[in-house]
Amino acid sequence: MPIVLVEDLRKSFGSLEVLKGISLSVERGQVVALLGRSGSGKSTLLRCLNGLETISSGRIEIGGHVMSYAPAALRALRKDVGIVFQSFNLFPHLSAAENVMLAPRVVKKTPKREARELAMEMLGKVGLIDKADVYPDQLSGGQQQRVAIARSLAMQPRVMLFDEVTSALDPELTGEVLNVMERLAAEGMTMLLVTHEMEFARRVATTTVFMYKGLVHETGSSKELFGRPSTSEFRQFLGVTS
Ligand code: ADP
Ligand code: MG
Repeated sequence: MPIVLVEDLRKSFGSLEVLKGISLSVERGQVVALLGRSGSGKSTLLRCLNGLETISSGRIEIGGHVMSYAPAALRALRKDVGIVFQSFNLFPHLSAAENVMLAPRVVKKTPKREARELAMEMLGKVGLIDKADVYPDQLSGGQQQRVAIARSLAMQPRVMLFDEVTSALDPELTGEVLNVMERLAAEGMTMLLVTHEMEFARRVATTTVFMYKGLVHETGSSKELFGRPSTSEFRQFLGVTS
């Protein structure tokens, strides 16, 4: 049974139709790279998958939830579906560990000691145990983004969504964040990620989805797609970005 199922998803902003009938099925443990030109609807799709945008029509099932927008349903969904953005948005007045502890404390009412242990475990996953008590302004961009990933993992989600999480980082800091994501993938986390890191998509993603003008234009195993892109649009995309 797929852990993500999207059927004929349409999304408009006013008169602008951004997603024009997206269908997608993701199995547990798959890593899906979402590629496409700026404006093709990648972020909107991820935001729809997390319930940050209401859909105009179609159906989404993700992490065991049928998408519905009642506040309680959204809270339940977001325990199981994490999302990390380009901007890390850590709370500046909280240490790394406190940032990671916050959602389990508030949303799951996890006792403080247990939440701290969980935070240390998650900071371990992103290689930042030694920064647990450091505040965001003393961390590099790459370290802050790794804390943001740990914060999302602390809810123990079934699916992780990543929207260009390395795009705001200096080039020398992207590697450490990509390594964290690669390790998560190796541990079996189901992930959908929007990225401009073609090498990473090709090597780490099991599946690649090329979006073009609000539709899935080409999809398949990353190896096949990168090895033999079949549409001129995807060939052109690879040509201009790689
Ligand atoms: P991508 O992530 O592939 O660059 P987006 O999903 O961000 O694409 O955007 C797709 C299109 O939807 C763009 O034309 C963008 O301007 C438009 N769009 C995105 N969010 C909104 C919004 N909240 N209101 C109006 N238009 C939006
Ligand atoms: Mg985007």
